[in-house]
Amino acid sequence: ATANIGVVGLAVMGSNLARNLASREGNTVAVYNRSRAKTDELLTEHPEAGFVPAFSYDEFAASLTVPRTAVIMVKAGAGTDAVIDELVKVFEPGDIIVDGGNALFTDTIRREKAVRDTGINFVGMGVSGGEEGALLGPSLMPGGSDESWVTLGPILRSIAAVAEGEPCVTHVGHDGAGHFVKMVHNGIEYADMQLIAEAYDLIRRGTGKTPAEIADVFAQWNEGELNSYLIEITAEVLRAQDAATGAPLVDVIVDQAGAKGTGGWTVQTAIDLGVPVSGIAEAVFARSVSSHPEQRAVAANLPGPVDELRVDDAEAFIEDVRLALFASKIVAYSQGFDEIRAGAAQYGWTIDLGAVAKIWRGGCIIRAQFLNRISDAYAEVPDLQVLLTAPYFVDALQRAQDAWRRIVAQAAAAGIPSPAFSSSLAYYDGLRADRLPAALIQGQRDFFGAHTYRRVDREGTFHTLWSGDRSEITAEDTH
Ligand code: NDP
Repeated sequence: ATANIGVVGLAVMGSNLARNLASREGNTVAVYNRSRAKTDELLTEHPEAGFVPAFSYDEFAASLTVPRTAVIMVKAGAGTDAVIDELVKVFEPGDIIVDGGNALFTDTIRREKAVRDTGINFVGMGVSGGEEGALLGPSLMPGGSDESWVTLGPILRSIAAVAEGEPCVTHVGHDGAGHFVKMVHNGIEYADMQLIAEAYDLIRRGTGKTPAEIADVFAQWNEGELNSYLIEITAEVLRAQDAATGAPLVDVIVDQAGAKGTGGWTVQTAIDLGVPVSGIAEAVFARSVSSHPEQRAVAANLPGPVDELRVDDAEAFIEDVRLALFASKIVAYSQGFDEIRAGAAQYGWTIDLGAVAKIWRGGCIIRAQFLNRISDAYAEVPDLQVLLTAPYFVDALQRAQDAWRRIVAQAAAAGIPSPAFSSSLAYYDGLRADRLPAALIQGQRDFFGAHTYRRVDREGTFHTLWSGDRSEITAEDTH
């Protein structure tokens, strides 16, 4: 046995992660793939990595020093289960199996429980940063046992992205905590992308600027408080020209957004937990609206304004859009972190939310300077109930809100869809409202279903005899 770590699954993510591991001092990496071709190809293309190839699970286990540590990077779902079943047969108590695929956290909880009975450690690890991140430094979100972290910690720290001198990895929490946090990362990513897309659309329709000109706006925004990877790549995409037609690339791309499902998981999980993540939900649904051409075709002639946004002062309008984007982004991140908080409470994880914000500063898709403000907020008040109530965000929302309201109102009046901007503002106003019409909903529920209500002036639960004399009784009397 010569390898201190192994990788199973040598498609793009696995082979890049294996190369990243091999490039770090002190690592020797064993590699295995179900079909032999990918292993052979990797060995031929990267002799410098000194990989130890295995062509069976027995060989793979034999090539690893104890405690054996293997990272699985295969197709999430049945593929992961198939590999775990094989590894469990050849590994021993104390060894470590890491799943770096995009698993649903409830699958990770199930797998961890099943593998734990064998004495083997199972770690579900979120990996973000795509192919490039895997190769050069991803943001890593491992869950699993404290025991496995002793072995894994130094290895993962050596391959993770580095942000402001700190590696972008932390032991997030036990069993499914890592994949849960990765899921919410992706949900926030959906919201961030949708918000940026709405900002672009408003600027284009409001000012008539070309995509290349709007690229300059985003490049400039990237110098300020919006500084982030997504803003940076937005400028690149908007500047790109189609070689075949000479048109802006964004104008020749079909306007139907795809999705691999993790945004939807974030929303489904939030519904189960009772956490409002409306910005993320709107982002997921905006992709759904876009990707139903048959529905869009039959709806195309519905009445409403078309291209009626006329802006007098383009510069002031663009600054309004920037502020609306920043405010809505604060809402999306706040909702995401609230979901992590709720998930930790539900599943019994101890998650340091400030540490999560820090490991997202580098390597991952939502990497941004802004995350420092989130870790500051949790450093000050670790059990902050609602992230956006931290002083920095209150100030930012104070600064941004007139612009935010103007933009949402202008978009609605002009018939420009801005679901993430407007739902974020509605969430914000709902959260800060002194009274909500939820009181009426309770009245309606009591009317048709005798669901009872509480009163503002007295303890207890009450029911009005709607179909009788409409007197009020205490709920105990209803039975
Ligand atoms: P794919 O998701 O395309 O999966 C292909 C790999 O899975 C191949 O190595 C394939 O082996 C293996 N595989 C599939 N089914 C089985 C099985 N039943 N038994 C054994 N091996 C199997 O690869 P990617 O590299 O794109 O992604 C790997 C994982 O990383 C996925 O879970 C993905 O969700 C996750 N991920 C991907 C990111 C990305 O940007 N692509 C980012 C972060 C995470 P074979 O060659 O024999 O077919």
